[in-house]
Amino acid sequence: MSKIGIMGGTFNPIHNGHLVIAKNAKEQFGLDKVMFITSGNPPHKQGEKILDAQIRHKMVCIAIDGYADFELCDYEVKKEDYSYTADTLAYLKEQNKEDELFLIIGADSLHNLKTWHKPEDICKLCTLLVYSREGYDINKDCEEVKKEYHCTPRIIKATYIDISSTEIRNLLYNKKDVSQLMPDAVLQLITRNDLYLPDEGTIEERIKKRLRPDRFCHSEGVAKKATELANIFGVDKEKAYLAGIAHDCAKNIPYEKMMAKCADYDVELDEDERNNPGLIHAKLGEKVAKIELGITDKEILKAIKWHTLGYPGMGNLEKIIYVADMIEENRNFLGVDGLRAIAQENLDRAVAACAKATIDFNTAKNIKVHPMAYKVFEWFMKNE
Ligand code: ATP
Ligand code: MG
Repeated sequence: MSKIGIMGGTFNPIHNGHLVIAKNAKEQFGLDKVMFITSGNPPHKQGEKILDAQIRHKMVCIAIDGYADFELCDYEVKKEDYSYTADTLAYLKEQNKEDELFLIIGADSLHNLKTWHKPEDICKLCTLLVYSREGYDINKDCEEVKKEYHCTPRIIKATYIDISSTEIRNLLYNKKDVSQLMPDAVLQLITRNDLYLPDEGTIEERIKKRLRPDRFCHSEGVAKKATELANIFGVDKEKAYLAGIAHDCAKNIPYEKMMAKCADYDVELDEDERNNPGLIHAKLGEKVAKIELGITDKEILKAIKWHTLGYPGMGNLEKIIYVADMIEENRNFLGVDGLRAIAQENLDRAVAACAKATIDFNTAKNIKVHPMAYKVFEWFMKNE
């Protein structure tokens, strides 16, 4: 039988306090390991602006690297739904029937336990290990929980740690030093990607800042054409506009920075994509749109991801962005008017024709054509 510590949190971002608490709990209660669980969609933090779960989880992964008995658990970040601790504990208990579970929380969490989903289940499934936190009467709250839920929270003995993610976010927002409050590698990731800085302006203004003028002009053209096509083919026009304006958001990132971001955001590139920098921006663009621009709509994110390569069986919004990218009003190559005419009539045929144009264009320039272009061409030829 093992003793498993569970350190759950929004980790927005993870800080030294979280690590110290877990370390103290592990030592004082002889835990075999501590599992760090990043909450995907925390119900108690609705309305707050929370960084995307994938990148919060990545920061946890970096922070615990090097701690032998700290493990990462992605159960909650993988869930679409709200993350409820009671459900997560039930799942972990099922997975570790023979083991004893210990939930590590701060005194603020203990104080609010009654507001959590199924607190009585939480108290049945694990032992609470509580760390003091400034402003909370830990002994009083322990007594109340004991009375209410018939369990005995244990206190982790240590002095206050005066750190919170809220304070770190405020300091980062104001470009103040936080190097003493969090692991260096986590801070580097934050700084490298300009996370937790103020979002100034409209989505268009924020995209404009990232792009060269001609590229932004192209993006405006794609947004316009995508809206037009959405109107013809019965697709949500607002989604088409947003996908169009954002589709190239990662296009003008210098190569080195692009590769660093791909590593930070876990972008998976195939061999052909790695060898052709012109292709990387689409998959990276999906992550930049999600993490940096805060776009959450899955269809829009997919349309950004696949706008250059496409794939057999793409949905209508994806097809629209794929086609609009090639035929928007600023494009000016031989044959573009023919493609424009097809796009007014038949979206699938337009995708096939655009794939064909891509193949011809790259072949003429002696650039290796990505195999997906042929697959898209064949699939949409058959399908239309
Ligand atoms: P935020 O300010 O965004 O709420 P936080 O610093 O409280 O962030 P969370 O991710 O909300 O961090 O916390 C995860 C768990 O760690 C919670 O149970 C919280 O009570 C506990 N915790 C975090 N920081 C401290 C701290 N300095 N002292 C005691 N407990 C803490
Ligand atoms: Mg908190």
